[in-house]
Amino acid sequence: MTRGHTNQPVWTWHCDRCGNTSGDLAYSQQHLPTPDQMRAKGWHIAEKWGDLCSRCAQTPPIEKLKP
Ligand SMILES: [Zn+2]
Repeated sequence: MTRGHTNQPVWTWHCDRCGNTSGDLAYSQQHLPTPDQMRAKGWHIAEKWGDLCSRCAQTPPIEKLKP
């Protein structure tokens, strides 16, 4: 088995609460689904920080996460 490493950054939508990713991978940020497309999937997309996956978007906010 050979594993390669690429210097290309991979972009994906990422939930800031649970760390879940949308599964959409793109080498360029512009190839990701747009915020509106993610909102259509049930994600909460914040303007700057605090994106939530569709599951977290439906659960009440947690003040502090366990480390
Ligand atoms: Zn989440």
